[in-house]
Amino acid sequence: MLTTAEIKTLRKLLLAWFRQFQRDLPWRRTKDPYAVWISEIMLQQTRVAAVIPYYERFLSRFPNGRALAEAPQEEVLRLWSGLGYYSRARNLQKAAQQILAQHGGQFPQAKDDVMALAGIGPYTGAAILSIAFGAKHAALDGNVARVLARLGAVRGDLRESLRWQLLQRSAVELLDPKSPGDWNQAMMELGAMVCTPRTPQCLLCPVAKFCRARQSGEPEAFPEKRKKRDAVQIVLAAAVFSTPRGQTLLMPPPGNKKVNKPAADDIDTLVSRLWHFPTISVRNDVSAELRDYLLDSLPAGNGKLHLEPLPRIRHAVTYRNITVLPFRIPAAKIPRIPGARSIPLRDFSALPVSNLTRKIARAALLQSTEPAAKLALKP
Ligand code: SF4
Repeated sequence: MLTTAEIKTLRKLLLAWFRQFQRDLPWRRTKDPYAVWISEIMLQQTRVAAVIPYYERFLSRFPNGRALAEAPQEEVLRLWSGLGYYSRARNLQKAAQQILAQHGGQFPQAKDDVMALAGIGPYTGAAILSIAFGAKHAALDGNVARVLARLGAVRGDLRESLRWQLLQRSAVELLDPKSPGDWNQAMMELGAMVCTPRTPQCLLCPVAKFCRARQSGEPEAFPEKRKKRDAVQIVLAAAVFSTPRGQTLLMPPPGNKKVNKPAADDIDTLVSRLWHFPTISVRNDVSAELRDYLLDSLPAGNGKLHLEPLPRIRHAVTYRNITVLPFRIPAAKIPRIPGARSIPLRDFSALPVSNLTRKIARAALLQSTEPAAKLALKP
């Protein structure tokens, strides 16, 4: 599609633009493969601004692969709390353990070895190897695919196998062999800052003169929109025990056999396999179903439960629209359930919890009649 001379010019223009205008991001100040790897995993499906504080905390607590490999998993998840997609954190630690056991703690440089690590796919592997080691691998993710599709005016669903292979070939063809790491980052930066999904800023684009989508006059029409998966509606009920001293009860990550009644599989997924309020999915009489579940789970002697409804909470996870109906349950003390923990409602920093659990806690604190609890919400 482009001549060799045009490709050379395109590379030169994009790299010059990147070197002048790239954002100053913490992971761009290092070539340490461990740090690059952490940043690439955190940036998957997560905004840069949200990642920065997590990246800095994570690197400060786990400065190298050995520290990560040897840490308790709960500590790793605690530092990931709020970032979402927790399988990323679990896989990171698993891969750190693989690197320690199979590569003496050194991040591998062979592509096959990198691809054999937990949680690393073709895009992440290419990004790490090119940025940290200058290896000639083209990184193709959704952002880069969009830029390539617009440059070449490629129509249709980009994730369709043959089309993705075509884009992969374009990515390899355009890759700058002298600076593959900068090149990959430049393509990602262009996709993130200029060639954005809805409103590409073609007037600011360093490679506009090569872009066929722009020449068509309708660059935002490329690529075609994918049909979204139909949303699934889920209704949950959650119990927020509350003592006069501000303690509440959290259940452990599902899978702990010591718990009397493990939550159902769909709940496991929705609470991200982290610490969570006692939660069930409900169909009809919400408070009665929650009361029955609690009475079933609690030791004898907790027969009287007063359930006070809290404001409903809405939460979206990929294609799931979740409505949570939380109930505050006043209690003189937190009931004892094997494996569960009593913890201050206003401070979950000691345990890994999901954003959904934090939202429920916040709703309970806002409704609290205790001034001390409300004060804790102020910045
Ligand atoms: S000219 Fe416009 S559509 Fe083409 S790559 Fe640049 S920003 Fe994207």
